[in-house]
Amino acid sequence: MNKPKGLLLVVSGPSGAGKGTICGLLRKALPDLAYSVSVTTRAPREGEVDGKDYFFKTVSQVKDMIFRGELLEYAQVYGNYYGTPKPYVMGLLNEGRDVLLEIDVQGALQIKKVFPDGVFVFVVPPTLSELRARIYNRGKDTEEVIEKRLKEATHELRYASKYDYIIVNDIAEKAAGRVLTLLEAERYRAGRTYFIIDKILDGPEK
Ligand code: 5GP
Repeated sequence: MNKPKGLLLVVSGPSGAGKGTICGLLRKALPDLAYSVSVTTRAPREGEVDGKDYFFKTVSQVKDMIFRGELLEYAQVYGNYYGTPKPYVMGLLNEGRDVLLEIDVQGALQIKKVFPDGVFVFVVPPTLSELRARIYNRGKDTEEVIEKRLKEATHELRYASKYDYIIVNDIAEKAAGRVLTLLEAERYRAGRTYFIIDKILDGPEK
């Protein structure tokens, strides 16, 4: 009997949509969901821990990883490299563990080519003015940077059509609840549960 592979959950969305908060809530609700820690060349932010938030690398280290085929996908976001370590994710999926990737649109599209049966979720803000308020409230961005991020966000929103699900993040807890619901449904897909048929057929007749 084939052991079922883990489910790959990919979450993207424009900056300020709140995908980080939603992923945090999902991880709390699903302690068995493994989180893939990405590599990045950007500098750590205050409070970020190497190996927990990201593996912080130099550009040449990341280029070496790319050359050696150690990244499942990679992209340049806001001038820095970001990538998903391949052996970690493949190992977990082969063990039957579910894995969460919180990555940008470019990375998600690369993953979709390799894992078409992954679950691709795009998180959006309820309105652009709400997005503006969130970007504004979270830090010291200048008006110019906020405008730039908003422009990027409106561009990124168009990529939502490439995903399986669009989740509106009005209230983070509710939005996370919606993702939990769709994950539950995804688990019953015939392609993921077919091993049950083998089990039934191999089992005792009465
Ligand atoms: P931040 O620097 O704010 O943590 O992340 C910036 C962007 O990079 C976010 O959209 C985040 O989802 C994305 N990102 C984080 N890790 C990866 C990764 O491994 N691959 C890709 N393609 N994007 C990533």
